[in-house]
Parts: sequence; C-alpha cells; structure tokens
Amino acid sequence: MPKDDCIFCKIAKGEIKTEFIAEAEDYVSFKDINPQAPAHALVIPREHFESLNEVDSPKIMGNLLEGAKKTAEKLGIRDNYRVVINTGSQAGQAVFHIHLHVLGGRAMQWPPG
Ligand code: 5GP
Ligand code: ZN
Repeated sequence: MPKDDCIFCKIAKGEIKTEFIAEAEDYVSFKDINPQAPAHALVIPREHFESLNEVDSPKIMGNLLEGAKKTAEKLGIRDNYRVVINTGSQAGQAVFHIHLHVLGGRAMQWPPG
C-alpha cells in the first residue's frame, strides 16, 4: 500500500517526475538529491515498507540487491561500489521508505561513521 505522505512512494508512482536509472516490476532506482559521492543512487521497492525490518519478502530484498547491481553497472561503477541500508534514525535513516544507497566514484573509508 502506498503511503500518501511518503516522498519515495510519490517518486515510485511517477507523481514526482524523476529519471529512473534502473527499474523492474518491484523496484526503481534514481539519483540521490544530495549526493555523498560522485555516483550516489537509491534503489527503492515500489511497495511501501518503513525500513528493512518491515520487509516481509526475501524475494523483494533479493530483487532490490539485483537493482543495486544493475544501478552500479548503469552508473559505470560496477567494480567498486558500496551498498548501504540505514535502519532507524540513530543509524542515519531520514526517509522511512526502505532504500538501498549505491555509492561509488571515490575511495571509501572504513568503518563508516
Ligand atoms: P537515509 O538518510 O534515510 O538513509 O537516506 C535518505 C536519502 O534520500 C538521502 O541521501 C537524501 O539525500 C535522499 N532524498 C531525500 N529526499 C529526496 C528526494 O526528494 N529525491 C531524491 N532523489 N533523493 C532524496
Ligand atoms: Zn513509501
């Protein structure tokens, strides 16, 4: 069920015009509005789940990871990229519709902050 006040539901439904990098039956990906690396995209399910903890389908999670891979390929970073899922505000989650960050185009630090 889409959530009326969810920005990522609006993007997935095409209510906010956004160029998709990759898309399939159950996900879309697009550039992050505030990139933290030269390449920074988000992969989201079309269906609304607040966070990783609410996703009840391993198939959807698998497809989101496939989407991350496809997005990295399309961005030209397939040999070096990081996929991040922030879960909960203390972990940095600000948008409560699960999303996978796909980051690349620069050397990454470890551990993340
Ligand atoms: P979080 O902090 O929840 O893990 O990540 C949310 C991400 O969504 C942030 O990197 C933020 O820049 C991005 N974001 C928030 N609103 C929008 C939007 O309207 N469009 C796009 N493309 N990205 C957004
Ligand atoms: Zn949503």
